[in-house]
Amino acid sequence: MLVSLPTNKDTTHPGADFMSSDSLFDIAVIGGGIAGASVAAALAPHARVLLLEMESQPGYHATGRSAAVLVDTYGPAPVRALTRASTPFLERPSEDFTNVPLLSPRGVVMIAREDQLRSLDALQAELGDGTPDRRLDGDELAACLPFLKPGYAMAGLFNERARDIDVHALHQSYLRRFRGNGGQITVSAPVTALRHNRGLWHASAGDEEFRASVVVNAAGAWADQVAEMAEMPPVGLSPKRRSIAVIPAPSGAAVSDWAMVVDIDEEFYIKPDAGRLLISPADETLSAPCDSRPEEYDIALAVDRVERAVNFTIPRIENRWSGLRSFVIDKCPVCGFDANVPGFFWLAGQGGYGIQTAPALAELAAALLLDKAVPEPILAEGLDPADLSPARPMLDRERNLGNISSKKYAQ
Ligand SMILES: Cc1cc2nc3c(=O)[nH]c(=O)nc-3n(C[C@H](O)[C@H](O)[C@H](O)COP(=O)(O)OP(=O)(O)OC[C@H]3O[C@@H](n4cnc5c(N)ncnc54)[C@H](O)[C@@H]3O)c2cc1C
Repeated sequence: MLVSLPTNKDTTHPGADFMSSDSLFDIAVIGGGIAGASVAAALAPHARVLLLEMESQPGYHATGRSAAVLVDTYGPAPVRALTRASTPFLERPSEDFTNVPLLSPRGVVMIAREDQLRSLDALQAELGDGTPDRRLDGDELAACLPFLKPGYAMAGLFNERARDIDVHALHQSYLRRFRGNGGQITVSAPVTALRHNRGLWHASAGDEEFRASVVVNAAGAWADQVAEMAEMPPVGLSPKRRSIAVIPAPSGAAVSDWAMVVDIDEEFYIKPDAGRLLISPADETLSAPCDSRPEEYDIALAVDRVERAVNFTIPRIENRWSGLRSFVIDKCPVCGFDANVPGFFWLAGQGGYGIQTAPALAELAAALLLDKAVPEPILAEGLDPADLSPARPMLDRERNLGNISSKKYAQ
């Protein structure tokens, strides 16, 4: 459902008579994080695309604050399908995209104390008999994770396919590809007003006004606010704060070879990063969209939970940050045109997996935006695009429709 999208780089759109062609676009993408950058890059060869970012630096929010790991068993089934469909691109990016490897070996072990063994069994049952993840018991676990206190964990599930992602290289490569195909990026340009009139979206961003046939809402934690600006019902996004502290490596330890350790009930995780360790209490505190900052309590919680599990002490915190992971109720991304108004496309709710799913999600979004077939490799992984639709019953958007008049959006 693409609303009268003009041909490539064509400014002779209805309405062009009353505006400068510099401010008229086929598609305006709001948000320059991984979601906005990746979809903009996929769209730029086919349309005149504008990327609007409120910060001076795209990637300042969730994208620049992630733990930068790819775990293909993480998240609900549609997310796992998107991750699997994204992996070949991340493993073998084309030379014109980047000459930097985007993935490097890591491995992740989900560990369980005696009182958590049922959670581990449940995950293993969910993954099925065919899972290549290896169950580690007793001695095997101690050999794999020698830094755990003896007897702390009774078992683990080892996913050797988990990799570190070079998020900066991935994000910058999308932005470079976007610009290389004629895309325009405007930074320090918060969209503060958005209305649909005579078949075009009118956006006020910074000091400027832009117009586009289609708007892509890739505003991360702010996506519901962007919808409300356009007097659209929200999808019920919950931004949740997650905190990370950086600690020094225990003396003499070659931590870069360590696997990431995740508590099976997500009470904490430990991840090697550039010769140090990232630790997190895996907090999920509901937050308003904001420039998130970690609470002292959450950092202390991370230290406490990690020190209970490992055989070293934490002498100091070298750095700390937090970011917002934004979920809708079923924890699946929202990707598709809104049925309430022409030309409003959602690309939000990527939760804790927006980096590892970005390549496939961008391809899916671009296909829907350009009215093309969904790429076969995505369908082959078992993804049903209806599971990501903003119209899926689970989101119960009728509840939020209120008094919004369909006349408001008449073309
Ligand atoms: C601590 C933490 C760890 C994580 N670990 C991982 C991980 O290991 N692997 C993984 O795959 N994912 C991980 N994630 C999740 C991942 O970071 C997110 O899913 C992803 O970055 C979301 O991307 P986004 O582009 O939707 O959001 P963002 O990166 O937040 O981008 C949204 C952009 O929209 C802009 N914006 C908002 N409103 C407006 C407006 N009105 N006008 C203009 N611009 C606007 C914002 O400035 C922002 O730049 C983690 C997240 C956190 C916080």
